[in-house]
Amino acid sequence: YLGHEGLPRKNSHGIELTDPIAAAPLLQTVANSDSMMWSGGPIVDGVSGSADLPVVNPATGALVGYTANASAEQIQQAFASAAESQRSWDRLGGDARAKILDKVADLYEQHSDELVAMICREAGRTLNDGISEVREAVDFCRYYANGGRKHFSTPTTLPGPTGESNELSLCGRGVFVCISPWNFPLAIFTGQVVAALAAGNGVLAKPAEQTPLIAARAIQLMHEAGVPKQVLHLITGTGAAIGQPLLDDPRVAGVAFTGSTETAKHINRQLAEKDGPIVPLIAETGGQNVMIVDSTALPEQVVDDVIQSAFLSAGQRCSALRILCVQDVIADNLLNMLKGACEELTLGDPAKLETDIGPVIDEKALGLLEAHRERMAVEANPLFAFDTAKQPKDGTFFGPQVVEIKDFDLLKREVFGPFLHVVRFKAEELEDVIHRINATGYGLTFGLHSRIEGRAGAIFKRVDAGNCYVNRDMVGAVVGVNPFGGMGLSGTGPKAGGPHYLFRFGNEKTKTVNT
Ligand code: GLU
Repeated sequence: YLGHEGLPRKNSHGIELTDPIAAAPLLQTVANSDSMMWSGGPIVDGVSGSADLPVVNPATGALVGYTANASAEQIQQAFASAAESQRSWDRLGGDARAKILDKVADLYEQHSDELVAMICREAGRTLNDGISEVREAVDFCRYYANGGRKHFSTPTTLPGPTGESNELSLCGRGVFVCISPWNFPLAIFTGQVVAALAAGNGVLAKPAEQTPLIAARAIQLMHEAGVPKQVLHLITGTGAAIGQPLLDDPRVAGVAFTGSTETAKHINRQLAEKDGPIVPLIAETGGQNVMIVDSTALPEQVVDDVIQSAFLSAGQRCSALRILCVQDVIADNLLNMLKGACEELTLGDPAKLETDIGPVIDEKALGLLEAHRERMAVEANPLFAFDTAKQPKDGTFFGPQVVEIKDFDLLKREVFGPFLHVVRFKAEELEDVIHRINATGYGLTFGLHSRIEGRAGAIFKRVDAGNCYVNRDMVGAVVGVNPFGGMGLSGTGPKAGGPHYLFRFGNEKTKTVNT
């Protein structure tokens, strides 16, 4: 489907960090950002509220800006304004809205160095992660803009008896509340908001309390691109402070949420109880993601893909590898290679080119990981622990860990960090492994390394996972290429960056005319 300037849509390029000339401006912007202070309080009707709660860089503990809990009045005003303006935004049509959303993508690209710097300072993400994230955000804008053009512009004509015409159209539902996480503070934030906008909704966007600054910058750029200030508002704050007024309002017509499974269930209950319409929840939650490696796998490639999937981004992706199932006959060799590779990893300032792994997001996340390490020291067999002498003293750093466990049952919850659990299996136990994967109840990503032709197809049919990756890593889903999202405890679907995502943001109307 033709998009921007009548050309087929292409994914964004990003910046190649290994090319010193191409990378220089970004590195300069990131260095300059070191002393910067940003503001990220609520933005209602385009007006930024005051902000006095500190936001810190997780790599250093240094102050990077201020945010605020939106007041009940600000939330009320945002709902009133969004509800009133949503109808004219909807009537504008998918095509006109897409032009504005394409402009958002252009502005993101023009400001990409600044956005990467903010992602790095506020969320502690590495430069590579920041670059990928800006690309993904740009891709979401153009992809959903195109989806809006295709599905929310002109009605579909349907067959009918002689003397009757039938048309099916899609329109916005009303006001969407979009609640996004800190681990992709720009990409997931943008994806939810832009999808809701493309489908003709008003939006109250609520970023994670740890990353309101990049969200505020994104909202400014969206307004600058032409998204009406009455249609799109930023509501910052902690779930405890603003969750209730934000979700209980009868004007909420839909919620998009990415975060923990527990919070998704909590939101679902809250929506079921409130006054007003029956509200759809689009939830993308956690995973207990498994990779199976059989005896025919290529060990060097497996090690590379395990490092990428389990440890990069500090394991703070819901798609990240948590349980590695290795066939016993190759396990010792593979695990030795893996340990060697883990030793080479560099933990440190995410703004430095040589850093592989930055900090985890905050003290709470660090505390949970440390508690898990202590539990595993007793209940599992430790295989590798990153040398703490090689990690920075300040900041919330947690080095990669590998432990061997007997059974999946030891892991009741998602462990959100660079913590890999290894399970050995015998050839005849493969069926049982698949059964145990499905029994976790999660169903987000799954990986398989095998050179047996036909094995991938057979396993794919039996394993309950939204994204199955064969002979590669299992993170970094690309918009329009690897539509992303899971099932069961991992979410409701539809898949982000996939062709069906926008439908859940719209209402369907059939027009039947007796001609
Ligand atoms: N889409 C991301 C990936 O494929 C993960 C998103 C998330 O962590 O929520 O790695």
